Amino acid sequence: MFKEYQDYKKKLSYYHRMINLMSWDLRAKAPENSRENKYEAIEFFGNEIFKLETDPKFGELLYKLNDSSDDLNDAQKLSIKRDLKGYERFINVPGTFEAQYNTMQAKCEATWARAKAENDYASFAPALAKNIEMTKERMGYIFPGKDTYDALLDLWDYGLKTEDLDRIFKGVKDGIAPFIDDIKGKEVKKTKCDELTASPETMEKVQNFLLDYIGFDFKRGTTGDSPHALSSVIDPHDVRITNRLYGRHPLEVCLSAIHEGGHALYQQNVDPSYIGLAPNDLIYSDIHESMSRFMENTLARNVEFWLPVYDDLCNIWPEFKGVEPDDLNRFLNRWACSEVRTEADEMTYCMHIILRYEIELMMFRGNVSVNELSDIFSDKMKQYLGVTPKDQAHGILQDMHWSSVFYGYFPSYLLGSIYDGMYLEKMTDDLGDVKKLLLNKEMPKINNWLNKNIRSHGSLYDAPTLIKNLTGKEVSSDAMIRYFASKRGMQI
Ligand SMILES: [Zn+2]
Repeated sequence: MFKEYQDYKKKLSYYHRMINLMSWDLRAKAPENSRENKYEAIEFFGNEIFKLETDPKFGELLYKLNDSSDDLNDAQKLSIKRDLKGYERFINVPGTFEAQYNTMQAKCEATWARAKAENDYASFAPALAKNIEMTKERMGYIFPGKDTYDALLDLWDYGLKTEDLDRIFKGVKDGIAPFIDDIKGKEVKKTKCDELTASPETMEKVQNFLLDYIGFDFKRGTTGDSPHALSSVIDPHDVRITNRLYGRHPLEVCLSAIHEGGHALYQQNVDPSYIGLAPNDLIYSDIHESMSRFMENTLARNVEFWLPVYDDLCNIWPEFKGVEPDDLNRFLNRWACSEVRTEADEMTYCMHIILRYEIELMMFRGNVSVNELSDIFSDKMKQYLGVTPKDQAHGILQDMHWSSVFYGYFPSYLLGSIYDGMYLEKMTDDLGDVKKLLLNKEMPKINNWLNKNIRSHGSLYDAPTLIKNLTGKEVSSDAMIRYFASKRGMQI
């Protein structure tokens, strides 16, 4: 019977593979006039997947397997359990509603893109209102009777509820308040690194060198150029990264590549015996973000990460030759209150997320109208970081998440950093000073630790369980606050 299930899943994975490949192509290389057809095909395969996953025959098979799962191993049992959960959630969503919901999402994204380009929130507000209404209706089908925001968090399966996030994020807010007070209203000190340049061709070489250095397997992955940095899983042996190699500071390009490389390394190092089973589908976005942010922030924001490869970098990037370690250290670690989330440093970034989390709660719980949200966004930005967005494109319209119905996703970025603080302390206990490891070029040792303790498990455990097993502790922001405190001195 499990064979029947595996065959069914294989068929589903082929559809997913087509969507993944076309989506990557759309981001990377697809010619302009081929786009419309690809969107149509993606919609077709998406509908087929929905039909297959909610087919009563599939449900019957899942119930049968669930009742007689004694002979199955843990990963197989989890696969059945997770698919059954998905089946029970989505069986109640009328197919016609799901199709309308997907169309609404596509239109809403297009409306958002236009509104952002024209700096005009008013033209986006009605689409956002409809989006919120339909999301509420959809959550009503999936989790009848449940508070909508709790339901949205459940969709991401953090294993943490809104009340946990309230508690954890309050710890963050209180913990970083003195650090923000240090820098509020102050000018950013420029370093020589600010003048660093590189051509896109050089950046491609640098990016590939750094990805190789951190352990990215080019035999099971590749890279491409796109306006947004992303990592995409095509199938278990094909993880692709896109990055924007031009139009921004070269070190930001490097950090983006390392961030996406962190996502890819997670997928590339899942225990191979999980291929085709639930733990290989990395469903926990908070753990995913912890893996990418660990590489980008916890490791690559140390000057010790760069020093051992200084000569190699100079060989492929002649402009890097003049970079002084002190300048580089300052550039990588300086904090500044700014308005755009994706350009924020790792400390003030926390407040960008908390602000959005609070607005999402208001959208789904409070009695605010969408028309008020732009002002609420700006007021909170002023209150938390002391900056006022220069316009709506740099304020409420800056992220695409809400138009793409990614409600409840923002917390995963901050949770990722919170977990990283805990991983770093445990790694230091186990392996010694991580800066020393970096300086001694011991990336393989660091990777072995991450593989053994986190990546190899895939999504066998949710984050609270993974962290409890690893550190013996509950999720808390204390370690992250200690990590930030260790960098406070660098701000002077
Ligand atoms: Zn990420």
